[in-house]
Amino acid sequence: MFTSDRDPLLLTPGPLTTTLRTKQAMLHDWGSWDHAFNEVTREICESLLDIAHATETHECIPLQGSGTFSVEAMLGSLTSSSHNILVPVNGAYGARIVKILNYLKRRHLVLEFAEHEPIDPLRVQDALIADPSITHVAMVHCETGTGIANPLESVAKVVHAQGRLLMIDAMSSFGAFDIDLRQLPIAALVAASGKCLEGVPGMGFVIAQHGVLVQATGNSHSLAMDLHDQWLYMQKTGQWRFTPPTHVVVALREAIRQFQEEGGQSARWLRYHHNGQTLLQGMRQLGLELFLDEAVQAPIIYTFKAPASPHYDFKKLYEGMRQRGFVIYPGKLTKIETFRVGCIGAINAFDIERLLHAFEDVWHDMGL
Ligand SMILES: *Cc1c(COP(=O)(O)O)cnc(C)c1O
Repeated sequence: MFTSDRDPLLLTPGPLTTTLRTKQAMLHDWGSWDHAFNEVTREICESLLDIAHATETHECIPLQGSGTFSVEAMLGSLTSSSHNILVPVNGAYGARIVKILNYLKRRHLVLEFAEHEPIDPLRVQDALIADPSITHVAMVHCETGTGIANPLESVAKVVHAQGRLLMIDAMSSFGAFDIDLRQLPIAALVAASGKCLEGVPGMGFVIAQHGVLVQATGNSHSLAMDLHDQWLYMQKTGQWRFTPPTHVVVALREAIRQFQEEGGQSARWLRYHHNGQTLLQGMRQLGLELFLDEAVQAPIIYTFKAPASPHYDFKKLYEGMRQRGFVIYPGKLTKIETFRVGCIGAINAFDIERLLHAFEDVWHDMGL
C-alpha cells in the first residue's frame, strides 16, 4: 500500500503532476459571465500567443475538452471537403489525426514512417510535388506514443516552399520546445492545458494564423467544435460560447505565471532535459535500453524495451511503482513490448532520482 498522504508522482504523458499553487488556484468559484473571468481568458490567450511569438500574426482560440477535442476542432474548422491533407505518420498520435480525418470525411493521404524514424522532410517534399491536389500537411511535433521529436523546422520550410499550409499537433511540445512562429511558417498549431504548461487537463487551444482563421467560416462539421464561431463570439463578448471549464482555466493562468517565473520555454526545456538525462543514465545502469536512438529522443517521455526475462511483468512493475508513489505508463507500440516513463510535469531531477531508487527496488523484487 502507498501510505504517504502525498499524491503519487505522474511520470506519464498526462495528466501530470502539478504544483500546489496551481491546485490552489482551483479553490474558487467563477461566474463565466463575470468580467474577472473574462480577464483570465484574455490573459491566457495573450500569454500563449506570446510563448509562440505569434502576437502579430496569429489568434489563440481556447476550447473545452481534452487535447484531442482541439485537434479535431482544428482539422474540422480549418479544412473543408475541397481540401486534401497529407498526414506523415510515425506513431499513435499521427494515426489519431488520420482517424479524425476519416470521421470528418476529409480527403487525405497518409505518408507512413516506422515508429523509430523521425518524419523525413524530403519524403514530405516528394509527396507534395507528386500530388498538386494536396492543400495541407498535418503532423505531430513530438510523438508522445514513443517520445520521438519530429523535425518541425525542416518540415515547415518544405511545406511553405511548396505553397501548402501546415497544421501541427504540438500537444506534448508546446512550452518546452522553442516554437517561434516568427521564424516557422505554421498555419495552425494545437496544444492543451495539461501537458508541458503544467496546468490541469480540461481545455485545449489552437493558435491559428489570422488570415487562415478568417477564411474558416462554415467548414466545421460540429457546432461545439467550430473554432471560427468560438473565436468570433470571444472577440465580441470576451466570453466562451458554452460553459467554460472555469477551474481548469484559472489553474492554467496560475501555471503560466509559474512558467514565466521559472524563465519561460528555455528554462522548462532545461528542467525536462535534466530530468530526462537523469532518468536515462539511471535506467541504463539497471541494464534497460531505450527504444529510440537517443539523437531523436525528445525530453518528454521515454520508451524502454521490456527485458526478455520471463520474470518481467508490466502489471507487477506498475503496482510496485504505484505503491512507492510513482505512476508510470504502458508502452504504445504494437510490435514490441515496452513501457514508458515521462519526465514532464512539476517534477525535477531529485524526483527522478527517487523514482530510480524505487525502480531498482521493484526490479529486484521481480527477480530481475
Ligand atoms: C496528449 C496528446 C494529445 C491529446 O490527447 P488527449 O488524451 O485527448 O488529451 C494529442 N496529441 C499528442 C501528441 C499528445 O501528446
